[in-house]
Amino acid sequence: METELTNDTATEARQTMTQGVDNDNGPSQKERPEVRMRARDLNLWYGNTQALHDINLDMYSREVTALIGPSGCGKSTFLRCLNRMNDLIPEVRLEGRVELDGEDIYDHSVDVVQLRTHVGMVFQKPNPFPKSIYENIAYAPRLHGTGTSRAELDALVESSLKRAGLWNEVADRLDTPGTELSGGQQQRLCIARAIAVNPEVILMDEPASALDPLATATVEELIHELKDNYTIVIVTHNLQQAARVAGYTAFFHMGKIVEFSDTDTLFTNPTEQRTEDYITGRFG
Ligand code: ADP
Repeated sequence: METELTNDTATEARQTMTQGVDNDNGPSQKERPEVRMRARDLNLWYGNTQALHDINLDMYSREVTALIGPSGCGKSTFLRCLNRMNDLIPEVRLEGRVELDGEDIYDHSVDVVQLRTHVGMVFQKPNPFPKSIYENIAYAPRLHGTGTSRAELDALVESSLKRAGLWNEVADRLDTPGTELSGGQQQRLCIARAIAVNPEVILMDEPASALDPLATATVEELIHELKDNYTIVIVTHNLQQAARVAGYTAFFHMGKIVEFSDTDTLFTNPTEQRTEDYITGRFG
């Protein structure tokens, strides 16, 4: 669910930007980093209804890119295109390209299971497997053969939980079901699970919207740390969150990208009137 934007919300998001809290975006003219994923002329239909129109977007290596915009504007649909999650939805038709390191992920030769080890996903509602904390992490590496011996898997479980900032909280109870953790811990477990298969890109669909403010802050800090090693694309309806965690932001409206720029510029000096109207709470 989208929450309605208020002028206060927009003002706070702008203040977050201008104060530079938790943010190291740098100047708007900064040199753009290496492109990890790229959408080119992407159009998508659910049956006869077109949900994405001519989407072009570069997503940079070791950066967080936020996708913002009102409910139903196509953010989640676009995110799902990035690891072919829409393949699972009947009646979806797609035109255009999505590239990972220059290769079209929709090429017939692409193994979708393999693709999803390169482009992982974290969902809005934490969804740990009904298994132990240990097995939540070890399951996919064992399946993909990246961890075979018990010692290898132990090391992978430990390093993934450490990267997700969860190790200290669960090291003494790895056999406990993942579902018994708090909501915030479950979400970090899901992030650890995504990390365990060594992805290049992590997609996050409103990863903190089901969490309380403290757990949200912890997950935001984690996203900020993860960007040093991964390309992150995050859907969020929370403008302050985009301002805090993302170096780049794309504003979606009615299935199109209205504006894309570094987050500083988008929030403090947008080019398009529709962006200005959205971030100042005139519609949402
Ligand atoms: P957002 O994430 O910005 O809220 P979505 O990507 O969920 O937007 O939705 C974009 C549009 O596509 C909406 O009109 C929505 O109703 C439609 N849509 C989303 N998922 C499906 C689906 N599985 N089948 C049909 N239409 C869908």
